Amino acid sequence: MIAPTLACADWLNLEREIAVMDRAGVDLYHIDLMDGHYVPNLCFNLDILRAIGRVSGTPLDIHLMVTDPLDYVERLAACGVERACAHLDCFRDPGIFLEALEERGIKKGLALSPGDGAERLEPWLERLDYVLVMLVSPGFSGQQPRPELFEKVAELDRLRRERGLSFLIEVDGGVSWENAGPLVERGADILVSGLFASLDRRGELGERTRSFRARSRSLRERHTEKELTG
Ligand code: ZN
Repeated sequence: MIAPTLACADWLNLEREIAVMDRAGVDLYHIDLMDGHYVPNLCFNLDILRAIGRVSGTPLDIHLMVTDPLDYVERLAACGVERACAHLDCFRDPGIFLEALEERGIKKGLALSPGDGAERLEPWLERLDYVLVMLVSPGFSGQQPRPELFEKVAELDRLRRERGLSFLIEVDGGVSWENAGPLVERGADILVSGLFASLDRRGELGERTRSFRARSRSLRERHTEKELTG
């Protein structure tokens, strides 16, 4: 699946870009919400979510980079978001956040910053719909991903298989045409595509989006086939 990150879209032409990507068949829109505190930047606000919901039926995938994720759950539900995650290190008890999402019918995720090991998620894996693995430091776009973090994806995939769980693995930050293959081979299910992938501004956006999606799907199918044939 691909989830273009709207942080890398052309904000002055957002409606037009969304229409183009919708036609190209994106799976989700990845939207970073920042509070200027957990990370120094600000990005989209909640009014934008509502506005996007009015022009597109594509589900919204919300990545909270905020100090108090619980404060946002109610409002995200009011915006009709499909899925939301927040960083593990924001919580003393992530269970309360997961429960709040569950109560509102929002798919639940937890995010790992580069410094967080996959093993820290172990107590929560059973309850998660997805895990977001950040390949760069949260808060800034345009960073090159750190290849040593790819192994975290493999580790989560191994944990998932060992424990018979079905959470999805989403990778965010510096995903590109070149590293999509290695990431999917390690078990990534959702690729957040930005400046190095479908939104790289080389060529026509609809065509780039279609190609990147087709590429991620064929890689995924190849990976599943390999798993089945052992
Ligand atoms: Zn993100």
